[in-house]
Amino acid sequence: MKKTIGQLKLKGKKVIIRVDFNVPMKDGVITSDTRIKAALPTIKKAIKEGAKVILLSHLGRIKELSDCAKYDLEPVAQDLANKLGKSVTFVRVPTGQDVIDTVSKMKNGHVVMLQNTRWEDINKKAESKNDPALGKFWASLGDVFINDAFGTSHRAHASNVGIAQNISETAIGYLVNKEVEALTKVTESPEHPAVAIIGGAKVSDKIKTIDNLVKNVDKVLIGGGMMFTFWKALGYNIGNSLVELDQVKLARTYLDSYASKIIIASDALISNKFENTVPFVSSEFNIQDGMMGLDVGPKTIKNFKKELKNAKTVIWNGPLGVTEFDNYAKGTLEIAEAIGSLKDAYTVVGGGDSVAAINKLNLAKKFSHISTGGGASLEMLEGKKLPGIEVIADKK
Ligand code: ADP
Ligand code: MG
Repeated sequence: MKKTIGQLKLKGKKVIIRVDFNVPMKDGVITSDTRIKAALPTIKKAIKEGAKVILLSHLGRIKELSDCAKYDLEPVAQDLANKLGKSVTFVRVPTGQDVIDTVSKMKNGHVVMLQNTRWEDINKKAESKNDPALGKFWASLGDVFINDAFGTSHRAHASNVGIAQNISETAIGYLVNKEVEALTKVTESPEHPAVAIIGGAKVSDKIKTIDNLVKNVDKVLIGGGMMFTFWKALGYNIGNSLVELDQVKLARTYLDSYASKIIIASDALISNKFENTVPFVSSEFNIQDGMMGLDVGPKTIKNFKKELKNAKTVIWNGPLGVTEFDNYAKGTLEIAEAIGSLKDAYTVVGGGDSVAAINKLNLAKKFSHISTGGGASLEMLEGKKLPGIEVIADKK
């Protein structure tokens, strides 16, 4: 267990908080402030305790100098100031004398936010490659480091691991704590029956979660674009459906090792092109040439619902069909509703598109936990330790 913000004395201390303000923006306007809202409990706690709060975040990817203007965090500082109802001093650069001067003038309860940490990537990827001098510089600004950026915790960057290695006190924030608790619970000690559902399109990114999930859950249901790599491994016809051929062998290994736990979607809604056509239903485990599966079929929906009926734990990552097309959103919709209506079940969903689908259906409130970090939550489902969290001090 890691030390959390609630266990530290923060009054009068300079507290560096790594947040995830990597928000979607269009023409300098924030299009979703979910991530800013998610960081508020930790920031407010530090302010309330009378800390000098120094905020760091990345935004987008910086490859060259011309990317910097596009990924400027100033609009986020303004939005944060509105949400906090107090001023946030924005420093237009992430490092250098301006940063040192601004921080040295801070009073208790003040909030300073530095420019996008990835601006430092134009300097030989100093942030993303965890350049030791950069981590030391940021660490030198504060007394305490708090990691509340779950979405980047699976990466060892200067603004998380680099700082934590060079400062005396460290802790995780409320958001990271919530994520770690939820994802650890469902993967390591779920209440039974526990069901995992894996879908989506990124087969190679997700298939490895199965190896870890089977250890503690009772059933792993496979749908979405993922299902056809398994069909292929079983020797069935998949027509033009999505498949990652280099993952077929691994799928075969899982089928052999975990036969009693893995349930593959058995039918599909099919189309002759990747468009919102009028769907046909495939026969079981057979898609004829020229057609592609874009959603799970009625038999699968019925079977998945049966598996979910008495579940006490559900972990879901990846939509069951191409939800972007209304005609192929049915499987995802019905399964989301089935999970949402479970009584006394602990339900967790992760993955950008899966969460978007649930929000579109207005079902978010019916889930116990919605994970904010794509890659980071996948790595936790895989049973990996996240470097940005490992580096934090343990709870005494
Ligand atoms: P998440 O963002 O939840 O982690 P992914 O990014 O892995 O999920 O997958 C989401 C994408 O998977 C969606 O864009 C969806 O259209 C696609 N998808 C789901 N089912 C299929 C399918 N049968 N064929 C092709 N793409 C699919
Ligand atoms: Mg996605």
